[in-house]
Amino acid sequence: MYRTHTCGELRLADQGKKVTLAGWVQKSRKLGGMTFVDLRDRYGITQLVVDAAAPAELVEAATSLGREFVIQVTGTVVERQSKNPKMPTGDVEVSIESINILNKSVTPPFTIEEESDGGEDIRAKYRYLDLRRPPLQRALALRHRLAQEVRTYLDGQGFMEIETPYLIKSTPEGARDFVVPSRMNPGQFYALPQSPQTFKQLLMVAGYDRYFQIVRCFRDEDLRADRQPEFTQIDCEMSFVEQEDVLNMFEGMMRSMFKNALGVDIPDPLPRMSWYDAMDYYGSDKPDVRFDMKIHEITDKVQGHGFSVFDSVEYVGAIAAPGCAGYTRKELDALTEWVKRPQVGAKGLVYIKCNEDGSFKSSVDKFYSPEELAGIAGAVEAKAGDLVLVLCGPKRKTQTMLGVLRIEMGSRLGFRDPKVFAPLWIVDFPLLEWSEEDGRFYAMHHPFTAPKPEHEKWFYSDKKEDLERVCANAYDFVLNGTELGGGSIRIHNADMQSRMFEVLGIGKEEAEYKFGFIINAFKFGAPPHGGLAFGFDRVCALFGGQETIRDYIAFPKNNQGRDVMIDSPSLIDDTQLEELQIKTCVKE
Ligand code: ASP
Repeated sequence: MYRTHTCGELRLADQGKKVTLAGWVQKSRKLGGMTFVDLRDRYGITQLVVDAAAPAELVEAATSLGREFVIQVTGTVVERQSKNPKMPTGDVEVSIESINILNKSVTPPFTIEEESDGGEDIRAKYRYLDLRRPPLQRALALRHRLAQEVRTYLDGQGFMEIETPYLIKSTPEGARDFVVPSRMNPGQFYALPQSPQTFKQLLMVAGYDRYFQIVRCFRDEDLRADRQPEFTQIDCEMSFVEQEDVLNMFEGMMRSMFKNALGVDIPDPLPRMSWYDAMDYYGSDKPDVRFDMKIHEITDKVQGHGFSVFDSVEYVGAIAAPGCAGYTRKELDALTEWVKRPQVGAKGLVYIKCNEDGSFKSSVDKFYSPEELAGIAGAVEAKAGDLVLVLCGPKRKTQTMLGVLRIEMGSRLGFRDPKVFAPLWIVDFPLLEWSEEDGRFYAMHHPFTAPKPEHEKWFYSDKKEDLERVCANAYDFVLNGTELGGGSIRIHNADMQSRMFEVLGIGKEEAEYKFGFIINAFKFGAPPHGGLAFGFDRVCALFGGQETIRDYIAFPKNNQGRDVMIDSPSLIDDTQLEELQIKTCVKE
């Protein structure tokens, strides 16, 4: 037997027991003739001690241990002289009688402790060492716990976990596909699934009315902290359901995940907000509702006072940053520069200080009387001591900029505590999104989303204004300013699906080539259905109170989409290329 206990297990009650432990040497140190060794495994750390009076070989063996050696020790559990209340095993130590070195280690390139001294790149290269660190072990343990919760809940609700293929053809989730060449079909390529969307719908046609899968998806997109080229979804679909059924089912799943993994109760029922309200009041379809600071339109209040900047635009909106009236000239200039950065994109920033003494000071004093400034402040629900921040321009664009500014001010003011959870559903998304650039409509969610039945009349109209009005029973689950999941009630009728492709400017032939299989399947008795998918990596990160998903994935890729540990992607040899009948012509 390699071990009788783990390194996280022993307590005072075990005093006097003879035990065998196995693990990694975190550190070994000599102190007044005694040798102390911290032994680590994924359950914790136990202190080992070798007495000065112990046989010389044992003392010698203990002092010669290097970091990350794998050892097995046998000894007796004793009460510690100086206890460490920060460690669960801190009341005891194991006074050892024998050390068996199971494997040596070269010196690791960084410290393997709660906080490491290694930079991101070196830790990525030695990911298997970084994964020995407690924060990463906690992250993966949380991920495991959440996956179990999902399976338990959905199994309890009669869902079947069914796998779908990875070597498929393009799925329209709006990203670029990763493709895989087919040796047996020269010149032809599989696409890796951006999601199992079409397959889960085919499973509904096949009668598996409650499906789920914890599944890898692949999207060739530019990467950010919360994006990876391969990521995991909790993918779900149900038949004979309306939006209400889907929301209730998955609200329930989230509720049990919060309760059982974090001990947190989320509101029952969850708040819902229409997409239009989210855009108007938060400037985002994933509002962070941990704090208020809503956006207010003040176009009517500010136009017609001779200030040409405001007079010439479609929309003027503002937020009130609580307690910020004391911002100095320098701070206001810096904030103005901040909103002008390309990431925000504003042309300038107008402010109104609502001073504690009831007076107002603004950058547009020339155009507005104190009463008028008070009126604007009132419209924005600003109180004495607040700073009103105003942006203007085209409506949606300006709201989005105000949304970014709102998040920034929320962060500065400490309103975005990762331990506070404010989940909600965003509902009633528009079905379509017009792209000025491309002069065509795109599906806001994806092309399998159905128009609301009461909006079908506009869906079949040829007028752009009509099509823009069509809403969908589409919904997103949003937590703390992050979209954690989304889905919709689907089209289940071949004609309507064909109409959708037509609206999206996808010609009959292209639709047939790309999606003929699903249009065809809908002709064989497709049931009404709908579903959603959660981004599992993001769920884990947010539950863990982090923004980046990388720590919650055992082997993630870096921002360039590289796995620097295995050094991939990499070149393949000429024989492989020949077999695939592929020539590369990479430009230098
Ligand atoms: N397939 C969708 C996505 O990946 C989710 C869904 O509509 O169920 O976003």
